[in-house]
Amino acid sequence: MSQGRPDATNAFNGVMREIRARNDEQYDPREPIRVWTDEDLTPDGVRTSLTAVLNTGGCRWARAGGCTMCGYVAESVPDGEVASEDILAQIDAIAAHEADALDEPAPLVKLYTSGSFLDERELSGATRKAIVERFGDRERVLVESLPEFITADRLDPLAAIGPQIDIAVGLETASDRIRQECINKVFTFEEFAAASEVAADADVGIKAYLLLKPPFLSEREALADAVESVRRCADHAHTVSVNPTNVQQYTLVEDLYHADGYRPPWLWSVASVLERTADTDAIVVSDPVGKGSDRGPHNCGECDDLVARAIEDFDRRQEPAVFDEVDCDCEQTWKEVLDRERSYGMVLDA
Ligand code: SF4
Ligand SMILES: [Zn+2]
Repeated sequence: MSQGRPDATNAFNGVMREIRARNDEQYDPREPIRVWTDEDLTPDGVRTSLTAVLNTGGCRWARAGGCTMCGYVAESVPDGEVASEDILAQIDAIAAHEADALDEPAPLVKLYTSGSFLDERELSGATRKAIVERFGDRERVLVESLPEFITADRLDPLAAIGPQIDIAVGLETASDRIRQECINKVFTFEEFAAASEVAADADVGIKAYLLLKPPFLSEREALADAVESVRRCADHAHTVSVNPTNVQQYTLVEDLYHADGYRPPWLWSVASVLERTADTDAIVVSDPVGKGSDRGPHNCGECDDLVARAIEDFDRRQEPAVFDEVDCDCEQTWKEVLDRERSYGMVLDA
């Protein structure tokens, strides 16, 4: 990872390590963290999907401190090492779950690792290959990685197996400054763009993940950043997923939330980003985690389900008119927030 302002990064990492040390839960290395089935819009249309979060020992960056909103490392085994045979046991458990839940194998398989599938220290090349081979008869397999691990020698063996390979990249924002100073993730947009070229050369797709409302931004700044970010990364990704921040345990965002210094974004903001970027070439979707709850993106409580359903509808049809049908008095409150809110404890200095 490239380094930006080392003093800011060191300070963030120190605080994040201290917060993460409060966690003492244990996880079984032979069980995936989560597995579920759903439907997703892919470049080939809507497909049934099997999604799993593998426990691979977690992200190295998170162990150093890591991103201000990310609590995934709290769910990893504590020593950061999971043996290849244990990871393959997790794949067996995922396949068993799928056999129970679906009549036919899902054409789309998404494997998240709360880290980087392509990082040798999380998964060896042989394990990566064995995992994708288990799903060799599927249409599409998505795995996630930071840009620094997206190299031809790691992609080519996977691309040769059969399914279309997609790499999910947690870009978070197209702004290097916000990525570094609000999120504490320190690769650059240029590195993301370069990685997407490497992927394209290997016939591998890119799905970019953006974070709507990192800490320290007002609702209006967050909205503007997300719209701009979707537009900029649509040139480098076939799909852009807009992820509104939810307050995860053992994170800096959680500490801010308890100190009345953070409110997750409004669902109106999610709808607004989708509506305003519907004309981009990429598929733009959002699957707001914790929607309608206080720790997740929410509106007034009355209209949350309605707006969440419109977002779901948009995800499948990419039709901005779905938002014309939702209405609530709190939309006016949200507009007032956009006009009046000022940033809390901004770290963005001039
Ligand atoms: S967001 Fe990604 S890079 Fe950041 S700490 Fe979490 S898993 Fe690691
Ligand atoms: Zn409302």
